[in-house]
Amino acid sequence: MSEPLGATAVLPWMQPAQDAIAHAIDGDRLGHAVLLQVPNGLGGAWLGRWIAARIFCRADAPRPCGRCLDCRRAFADEHPDCSFVQPVGDSKEIRIDQVRETSAALALSSHGGSRKLAILWPADRLNRFAANALLKTLEEPTRGTLLVLVAAELGRLPATVRSRCTRITVAAPDRAATLDWLRTHGAAGIDWEAVLGAVGNRPITALEVDPAAVAALAADVRGALESGLAGTLDPVATAERWSRDEFALRLDCIENWITDRVRSAAGGTAVVHELRAGAHLPPRAMPLNIRALFDALDVVREARSFVESPVNKALVLERLLWRLPAIAGTRVRESIREQPFGSG
Ligand SMILES: [Zn+2]
Repeated sequence: MSEPLGATAVLPWMQPAQDAIAHAIDGDRLGHAVLLQVPNGLGGAWLGRWIAARIFCRADAPRPCGRCLDCRRAFADEHPDCSFVQPVGDSKEIRIDQVRETSAALALSSHGGSRKLAILWPADRLNRFAANALLKTLEEPTRGTLLVLVAAELGRLPATVRSRCTRITVAAPDRAATLDWLRTHGAAGIDWEAVLGAVGNRPITALEVDPAAVAALAADVRGALESGLAGTLDPVATAERWSRDEFALRLDCIENWITDRVRSAAGGTAVVHELRAGAHLPPRAMPLNIRALFDALDVVREARSFVESPVNKALVLERLLWRLPAIAGTRVRESIREQPFGSG
């Protein structure tokens, strides 16, 4: 675990968005609502708080200073003119009563006489009723207010909400840049390559997890998947255990393991250019059925949509684990038939 990142932290992948936002704030062109599209694990909430600090900071430039009371309150989610709204309780959703409270707070005049803000994170967790309530505020904004919506999956937000916001998109850094950043800003002596191998190319997630626990979990998943290839894994018992323990993180590990195998099977060709960068390549290139690997990848990505739902997670995992012997089992026939992949 690391110290939380403050207002003056340098997150290079955020810089273009920060520059655009600062420019808009200074020119009073930010409007009433901003939608930040930030992939998960890149610091979307940090960017929301940075906007609050940039607006409220009373220091001379450069702002935010990170030291004044306004900056510190913005980053502690305790600023009297800024509401930080996130899912509460077991629902994992932002509910209509939270949106109503936020709209009411925005309608009151500010303490400092400047703007009033609300940050909704993650905004793709607004439930349907909450999104409808938010729409009213977006349609009739109170003067001097700013809504900051931070979301990874814009498709989960109604088009009517999206269209009323100024959209700013943040792109993920490449994997080498992520590693560089973690080695500079993270704790010393940690195998960040291994951490990214488990959580994917997500620098802020990597900072927040316990590296030793993640490495152990990733090794557990890798070992089980290798047994699955060899046909010695019990899919039912394994799926049952994994469904109750770090389901989402295990899905990340599985996805990384598969993308590594795809890259290896493809001999590093362009086939994998759209896949998320995986961990270090396996030491030996074991010929696998690449089509079966892609099928398994589809199942993993589908399973991700069940992370927050009551659907039987064990059944989804079981479906995936049963596929493993097929991935390895047809290798002779596939490696002959798919010469381009085997010859790279
Ligand atoms: Zn400040």
